[in-house]
Amino acid sequence: MKPSYLAPLTLEEALEHLNRRGETVRVLAGGTDLMVEIRAARLKGNTVPPALLDVSAIPELREIRMEAGHLHLGAAVTFHTLEHDPLIKKMVPVLSAAAAQMGSVQVRRLATIGGNVGTASPAGDGITPLTALDAEVKVVSRDKSRVLPLTDLITGPGRTGLAANELIHSFSLAFPAAPERCFFSKIMRRRAVAIARMNLAVQIRLVDSGMIQSSRIAAGAVFPTPRRLMEVEGLLIGQLPGKELFQACGRRAVEAMRVVSGRRPSMAYKEPALERLVVQGLEQTCGV
Ligand SMILES: Cc1cc2nc3c(=O)[nH]c(=O)nc-3n(C[C@H](O)[C@H](O)[C@H](O)COP(=O)(O)OP(=O)(O)OC[C@H]3O[C@@H](n4cnc5c(N)ncnc54)[C@H](O)[C@@H]3O)c2cc1C
Repeated sequence: MKPSYLAPLTLEEALEHLNRRGETVRVLAGGTDLMVEIRAARLKGNTVPPALLDVSAIPELREIRMEAGHLHLGAAVTFHTLEHDPLIKKMVPVLSAAAAQMGSVQVRRLATIGGNVGTASPAGDGITPLTALDAEVKVVSRDKSRVLPLTDLITGPGRTGLAANELIHSFSLAFPAAPERCFFSKIMRRRAVAIARMNLAVQIRLVDSGMIQSSRIAAGAVFPTPRRLMEVEGLLIGQLPGKELFQACGRRAVEAMRVVSGRRPSMAYKEPALERLVVQGLEQTCGV
């Protein structure tokens, strides 16, 4: 059976549908994950959702605005916009850098930041920079709204704490006090359109003396749920950039992964990959 298609033009209408239909409706944004999932379910003879609720045309969910030192990003903002919007490029460059490496031009035109978080892939290219930037997420239902750290919304690989009647509304990011340098890179099985095996987002502020004043680092597919690499950030603050320091950071990242994620078969490639990615990220960010 084909799912019925609902395309509300207001948030209120969308929340009313969600409230009434609960688990029988799936939220649809760009469809770049959900339509693939539905097609795969059909091919296997599994059930598909009876209804799709397309939220991509709701103006409130497409908004980008500055308010009280924070950038507010609607859940239906596409990766194409994240890549090109001048405000995002200037204030949170690591998010633009990540968006530019996501999928292909065609995918970026459709795929949204809310859908990336909704899918909650451990290596989601939007999730890692949002984690580095300590993003908060606003979640709404017909009767209430709540704001929580993004890292609390994602409860495991492919899992979020969203209730059936809730919608991701927007993300909020604090602006850095001064311009910061950034790096985003990912490791993939092949160079072309593919989901990352691991990714890394770095945003660093150097002061005139060359010292590292602040650092924000997050890695995707390294921990069971998104998390900043605070162990590494702590090594960097107040230091002058240098190869030995960065190598120590690479080793510290691997230690943190071992402690939090435990020993797994994938560690054989993940340990050297993470160490190298951290060193490369810091070298490129600091120009060493
Ligand atoms: C060819 C191809 C290449 C890709 N490359 C990459 C890549 O390089 N990096 C990467 O990270 N991903 C990649 N993806 C995966 C996908 O494009 C992203 O995860 C994308 O951000 C999903 O967004 P969407 O708007 O298409 O979500 P949809 O497919 O519409 O939805 C995804 C999930 O999120 C839920 N959802 C969507 N919006 C909301 C909302 N506002 N509130 C609550 N739940 C919501 C949906 O119900 C669904 O469960 C790729 C996909 C394809 C097909």
